[in-house]
Amino acid sequence: MSIYDDDVFRMACDQFQVIADYLSINKNDRERLMYPKRAIAVTLPVHMDDGSTRTFQGYRVQHHLTLGPTKGGTRFAPSLSMGETAALAMWMSWKCALSNLPYGGAKGGVTVDPAKLSRTELERVSRRYMQEMIPFVGPHTDIMGPDMGTNEQVMAWFMDTYSVHQGYSVSEIVTGKPVAIGGTEGRREATGRGVVYLVERAMNMLKMDPEKCTAIVQGFGNVGSVAALSLAYKSGVKVIGISDAHAAIYNPKGIDIQAAEQHVFKKGTLRAFAQDNHVDPNELLTMPCDILVPAAVDRVINGKNAGQLKCRILAEAANGPTTPEADLILEKRWDEIFVIPDILCNAGGVIVSYFEWVQGLQSYLWTEMEVTDKLFRILEHSFAQVIKRAKAHKISHRTAAMAIGVERVLKAKKMRGLFP
Ligand code: GLU
Repeated sequence: MSIYDDDVFRMACDQFQVIADYLSINKNDRERLMYPKRAIAVTLPVHMDDGSTRTFQGYRVQHHLTLGPTKGGTRFAPSLSMGETAALAMWMSWKCALSNLPYGGAKGGVTVDPAKLSRTELERVSRRYMQEMIPFVGPHTDIMGPDMGTNEQVMAWFMDTYSVHQGYSVSEIVTGKPVAIGGTEGRREATGRGVVYLVERAMNMLKMDPEKCTAIVQGFGNVGSVAALSLAYKSGVKVIGISDAHAAIYNPKGIDIQAAEQHVFKKGTLRAFAQDNHVDPNELLTMPCDILVPAAVDRVINGKNAGQLKCRILAEAANGPTTPEADLILEKRWDEIFVIPDILCNAGGVIVSYFEWVQGLQSYLWTEMEVTDKLFRILEHSFAQVIKRAKAHKISHRTAAMAIGVERVLKAKKMRGLFP
């Protein structure tokens, strides 16, 4: 495993082996499917505001190039490693394939805490990262998007840095850009909206009345906050728990999500919001609710707490929130907890990124309604396929979702053959 040696990469490999066993994939094909095609590590020397120079580590992993260019987000996080980046890239491959997007998976990022950088330092880190990546990315090679710790502004700096190097504007080199420079309507909300579309589908299937349902959302970034807002004001669900990296709030009477959003917009965190209702963040996930939405980091649902979850629907908005040990427990609890697995649940982001890329390549812009309508159609199709396969083969929703993705990549690899 060498350069990828990391707990998260091991977890992604373990998940993959379960699918490979189920699909009876032979050893040669397993390795071909599992290991990344390319992995790039770069060192980024950056001028800091105090006159010093700091060096940061940056990564980009391109998992497979079989179906088209690679696609995936860029994460700025203090603990990011090559192994974690590779795991996230592998998950992007199965996610894109499940949604039938003409992409392989990728992921990249910088080992840095963006909250500790000034705006000018963040700009220099972002530009330097893209500068170092120029030989390895391109609109037909690898297209970056946002992920944890990055936003529309960072995507704008990426696009500008790449474009200045080429000598003309290349908007299709990144997605998740501001609409003003070629981003698409509806991208910022896409992941959270997609999560809630699928939660509504699950509620409908399980004959749950949204007006009588409660939800807990872990994580209040771009995905968690949009999901919470949409659950509260569009679906009519009572949101009783929210959290971010600094605070967890629980109120059985319901939380004013709009007020929480405005608070975070002004103060940057939930730390000083509704202080009378603060609870231990570790306990939030196991509190009783109908819909649990982990929308933060990986591995929060594990062998220790999976048996204690008290939700009816688990909507995995984060990447890799559930460990393989937890999966074994949840598989036994299949008639109690309806899992919407991550590669289906959070696919809205990359699906609308695909729309943004297509619009950029064609210089032809769609309305927000067109974007959202097309997004829901793809999610509907994937949801139906996953449920059908899980029922027919008596397998978990995660196994069904990943199997559909892995099968598509394997089929394409077989058809293209091995060169030379
Ligand atoms: N970061 C998102 C994900 O994990 C989206 C990536 C993209 O838009 O390229 O799916």
